[in-house]
Amino acid sequence: MGKFEQTKRTAPKSAGGTAAERFLSINDNCSITNHRGGGNIFQTIKNKITTREAAEIYGLKVGRNGMACCPFHPDRNPSLKVDERFHCFGCGADGDVIDYVAKLFHLTNMEAARKLACDFGVYIPKNARRAIQTPAALQKQTNRRVSEKFERWRSWAINVMAMYVNSMEEWRERFAPAPGDTEWHSLFVESLSKLDQYNYYLDVLCSGTEAEQRSFFFEMKEVIRNLDKREQSWSRKSADGRSA
Ligand SMILES: [Zn+2]
Repeated sequence: MGKFEQTKRTAPKSAGGTAAERFLSINDNCSITNHRGGGNIFQTIKNKITTREAAEIYGLKVGRNGMACCPFHPDRNPSLKVDERFHCFGCGADGDVIDYVAKLFHLTNMEAARKLACDFGVYIPKNARRAIQTPAALQKQTNRRVSEKFERWRSWAINVMAMYVNSMEEWRERFAPAPGDTEWHSLFVESLSKLDQYNYYLDVLCSGTEAEQRSFFFEMKEVIRNLDKREQSWSRKSADGRSA
C-alpha cells in the first residue's frame, strides 16, 4: 500500500496533523483536499519537513551532532551535515529537503516534492496538487508523442535514403567512365564517395540501437531533409521530361 513502509513506523513530528491523520493521508494516496491556503508547493514541503527528517526516513543514520555518512559519495567518516538543509564537506552536495530527495532517488524537483508529500502525508492544496501531479503524467504523454514522431521520421528517412542508394547504384553503372575518359561524371563520383556511407546509415536506422538512431537523427536530420528536396527536384525533372 504505502510507497515507503518505514514512513508508518517513524512519521516525522513536523509533518503536521496527528500521526493518525498523516497515515490516513498516506493511505488515501495523497487525495486529501480540505486544506486551507495555497502557496508554493515547494515552500509548503520545506516548511513541514526538514532534510534531516526526510534523510532519516529514507535510511540515513544521523549522529547526535547531525553528521552522517554522505549518500552521494563514498564516505567512510561522516562528512554530511544534515539539519534543515544538508551540506557535504566531502563532495560539496548541498541543498534543501527537495534537492536531497531529488538527488537520492534521481527525480526532478517536482517529482521529489510529490514523493515527499505522499510519503509524509503533507496536505497539498487542491490547486497545487494538479501542478505536482502533472509532471509524471505529462512526461509520459510527452515521451509517447516524441516516440511516435520519431518513428514517423525514421520510416520517412529510411525511404529517402533507400531511394538515394538505389539512384547511386544506377549511376554507378550508367555513368561509369569509358577507358580513356579523363573526366568522370559527377554522379558517378558521388556514388563512389557516398554509396557505402548511406548503406551504413540505412543499417543504423533499420537495426541500430535506439541511442544510435536518436543521435543519427540529431546529426543528420538536415542532411536527410536536403536529400529529400533534391530527390523531389529529380522526380519533377523526370516528370517534365516525360510530358515534354
Ligand atoms: Zn558527499
